[in-house]
Amino acid sequence: MQCPRCSSVRSKVVDSRTSKDNRTIKRRRECLDCAHRYTTVESILGEDLPVRKRDGTSQEFDREKIKFSILKAVEKRSVDAEQLELMVNQIVENLRQEYVLEIPSEAIAEKIMGQLKKVDKVAYVRFASIYKDFTKLEELEAEIAHLRSGTF
Ligand SMILES: [Zn+2]
Repeated sequence: MQCPRCSSVRSKVVDSRTSKDNRTIKRRRECLDCAHRYTTVESILGEDLPVRKRDGTSQEFDREKIKFSILKAVEKRSVDAEQLELMVNQIVENLRQEYVLEIPSEAIAEKIMGQLKKVDKVAYVRFASIYKDFTKLEELEAEIAHLRSGTF
């Protein structure tokens, strides 16, 4: 770990804090060369199952990808960074609970849609229109009508 101020790699840990779900640890470090204090976050690797795509190939689970998809859907909507992070956490958590060996890519999209539906209906329609590949305007309208009949 490099000190952000002087680039020294010599540091000592002055405090450690585990997150609520015990999956990440924040460490407060002090640079042994310039005494600057900074924080590092450790998380568990290999937490993630492979993702099976619709064409049968698999790829590594990518949390950032989920975040990016949501980010695109909520662009210019009133969803803040914290909400975004919470949504991603919830999705990852649900997927982990439901799948043991691999995660079907459709399941990820379904979870994203589930979260978006709760948080921002417009963002949901944006995401769904890409994912579900609505080819006809009527299909999109049907989805919106479906949304309206719900908790809207
Ligand atoms: Zn330093």
